[in-house]
Amino acid sequence: MSIRPWRDIARRPSRKIRVGKVEVGGDAPISVQTMTNTLTTDIRGTIAQVRACAEAGADIVRVSCPDQDSTKALKTIVAASPVPIVADIHFHYKRAIEAAEAGAACLRINPGNIGSDAKVREVVKAAKDHGCSIRIGVNAGSLERDLLERYAEPCPEAMVESGLRHIRLLEDNDFREYKISLKASDVFLTSAAYMAMADATDAPLHLGVTEAGGRVSGSIKSAIGLGNLLWMGIGDTLRVSLSADPVEEVKVGYEILKSLNLRHKGVTIISCPSCARQGFDVIRTVAMLEERLEHVATPMTLSIIGCVVNGPGEARETDIGFTGGGAGSGMVYLSGVADHKIGNGEMIDHIVDLVEQKAEALEAERAAQEADAGAEAASAGQAAQ
Ligand code: SF4
Repeated sequence: MSIRPWRDIARRPSRKIRVGKVEVGGDAPISVQTMTNTLTTDIRGTIAQVRACAEAGADIVRVSCPDQDSTKALKTIVAASPVPIVADIHFHYKRAIEAAEAGAACLRINPGNIGSDAKVREVVKAAKDHGCSIRIGVNAGSLERDLLERYAEPCPEAMVESGLRHIRLLEDNDFREYKISLKASDVFLTSAAYMAMADATDAPLHLGVTEAGGRVSGSIKSAIGLGNLLWMGIGDTLRVSLSADPVEEVKVGYEILKSLNLRHKGVTIISCPSCARQGFDVIRTVAMLEERLEHVATPMTLSIIGCVVNGPGEARETDIGFTGGGAGSGMVYLSGVADHKIGNGEMIDHIVDLVEQKAEALEAERAAQEADAGAEAASAGQAAQ
């Protein structure tokens, strides 16, 4: 039993698959995905965007392959990418085969849309031959006509039935390296469909609210839809869909996971909204710190609080804290304890230094622990021989 059971999330047990070097499902960390919006035939532009997304923390990036020129370009993109690439295919089974041959780690394709059984077999064979997984992507906006006629409109039951049909086609071909998504632009429909699918299969689930909207409205919609599911333990990988730069999607995806303690990356800043009591300009300070600390990947917490009303209490729970005081200075807290005062003018540089030093110390600690664990495993191996 954890000491803070109200924070515990029990993840739904799911089968583990691989998307290249990234594990999805089971006990693997919930991965963050995004999708490029460049022309795939613009190889240089696409590689630059893939790299920017990877730098922002994307574990997996999807690239659209609408034509043969795109699958040709994919080979160079895959070779230059630091993260596994998913090829997004619609309808044309030949593009799927070409993408598998080009080195895609996963194909996003719905087997029910490919056409004949023979074509499905060919795609599955290419996926098997090249070590690709498949993502089935059910979308409320493109459900099969017979399902729409039977259910009258897109609903959770129709989406799950559609998903199970696609699954059956893969399983009939002895293929189990698949994950599935059931996206809708409506959060209620999305959540209900995923909940029903979570009971119907042990396949890993790729979460997303599709066409969520712009940066602010789409982030809120995704946080509600995805956050609700993740809180219930449902979801193994996710993509936040925004009408914005894909790097923003990655940032929002991470923030959702960080809010639920499901992933930890970089500095989590806890800050107050500020008011007349603030001892320094909280809003400006937080904006500057967010920018200056963007390069820090080591997980840690930092509280930036305007005054003593909430400052000491928040600082107690964070690695580094600053609380505004009177006379143009404030108190710096280290590991929850008041440590020293600093003037408001020097405060930003000082906090950046403290965070960077702490990150270095934590990384050194982690490397030492890994080296110890490696040495222990090696000596256990020798003893067993
Ligand atoms: S912590 Fe202090 S400055 Fe910040 S909002 Fe609360 S009362 Fe205002």
